[in-house]
Amino acid sequence: MAAEGVGVTDRVRDYTARFRRFLHDEVTPLEEQLASAGAGTAWQPHLDESGRMHPQVWQARREVQRRAASAGLYTPHNSEAAGGGGLSRVEMHHVEEFVYRESGLGLGLAALAWTEGPNPAVEHCSETAREQYLTPLMNGEITAAFANTEPDVGSDVLAMSTTATRDGSDWILNGHKSWITNAHFADVIQVVAVTEPGAGTRSLSMFLVDAAAEGFRRGRDIPTMLNDGLTGELEFTDVRVPAENIVGEIGDGFALAMSWINWRRLCRGGMCAGWGAWLLDRALDYTRQRMSGGKPIGSLQAVQHLLADMDAAIYQARATSLIAQAELDRLGPFDIPLHHDAPRLISLVKVINDESFYRVADNAVQARGARGLLLGSPEEKLFRLARNLRIPAGTVEIQRNAIARGLLRDREQVS
Ligand SMILES: Cc1cc2nc3c(=O)[nH]c(=O)nc-3n(C[C@H](O)[C@H](O)[C@H](O)COP(=O)(O)OP(=O)(O)OC[C@H]3O[C@@H](n4cnc5c(N)ncnc54)[C@H](O)[C@@H]3O)c2cc1C
Repeated sequence: MAAEGVGVTDRVRDYTARFRRFLHDEVTPLEEQLASAGAGTAWQPHLDESGRMHPQVWQARREVQRRAASAGLYTPHNSEAAGGGGLSRVEMHHVEEFVYRESGLGLGLAALAWTEGPNPAVEHCSETAREQYLTPLMNGEITAAFANTEPDVGSDVLAMSTTATRDGSDWILNGHKSWITNAHFADVIQVVAVTEPGAGTRSLSMFLVDAAAEGFRRGRDIPTMLNDGLTGELEFTDVRVPAENIVGEIGDGFALAMSWINWRRLCRGGMCAGWGAWLLDRALDYTRQRMSGGKPIGSLQAVQHLLADMDAAIYQARATSLIAQAELDRLGPFDIPLHHDAPRLISLVKVINDESFYRVADNAVQARGARGLLLGSPEEKLFRLARNLRIPAGTVEIQRNAIARGLLRDREQVS
């Protein structure tokens, strides 16, 4: 199906102009304050004695989130009904690409809601939960985590063992979640649990668990190659959850989890194109200055090919994202039930962007020689980050499964 409408709209132009001013007026002073605090930077935070992100770095990010929400920059992806900007996925690609390229690895990245902010799945909450959780999330007053993965279950979501059992109108949650982003700080957790064992894709439900709830405990930090002190474990022991904290209906958990995960998958488009372009800008600057044999290394064909391959990978990532997201805008990217053509398109965005960006980050390191390996340099950090991207929100192998399923399904329908 041919895609239409991949261009930049007035709404995107308005957002990016306001974002640029916000970076200059609000974020730069906060970044300067953070630099003098001795707590590390937004992308190389020092860690506390438990391995968690240094509280001053976390607070600086929170301040950016609150100010971005006040400035109407935090939730362009949420629906207008929820108080967000109601931007399409194509518009969000342009916004995300701009934000990542403009912010680089700076504090400004926190201005656009990410894993810890409001997402398409949580919009299915009750009226009571909307007041208690969704609106504060939209306003940047609180943060969230999404708890799906367990120590023994990642890709095989339906094999999870966290349970929720009915007790009157309440539900009692028991289980252990692992590898959860924002585990240490989240005020509310979107937990996916088994409510009807053996019911396949209807076996799971999603609940909002308040971090103040009795029986909820934050576990250890899980140090990863991101080294940001944000990933951890969560434990739920007889946590009582009221009916108004069910997201959607009982049995919707798998679809809601996919809605959350698909949101993250689609965000890869602008993220990889934006950071890729930022790395290419830096590589162009560096290779025009660094000398070898009396001339800039950028004049050597071997180095030019590194740059050209970066450009080709970024172009591929951006083009795939825009075309697929234009088709998804037509199909409904987060609808429940999701259109049967959507999973293949979403997985194409993720796998092509994850793998293209890995090549970009690898070349960015190579073009700098030893300096590319320098601990704490943007290239070194983004290389580690690019390697990470191929695993969370569904591994690249799981994306290939979905692509193949979509292809074979189409063929079965024709024959
Ligand atoms: C930094 C980070 C942040 C994360 N944040 C969150 C979060 O906020 N919330 C959350 O719930 N989870 C989170 N995760 C977990 C993440 O989603 C899982 O790690 C991911 O889904 C893979 O699961 P796994 O690690 O258990 O690997 P496994 O599922 O054990 O997979 C191991 C290997 O086997 C392959 N494999 C497994 N099954 C199949 C299959 N059916 N077909 C083909 N290949 C297969 C995989 O592709 C992989 O190569 C995070 C992980 C990381 C590293």
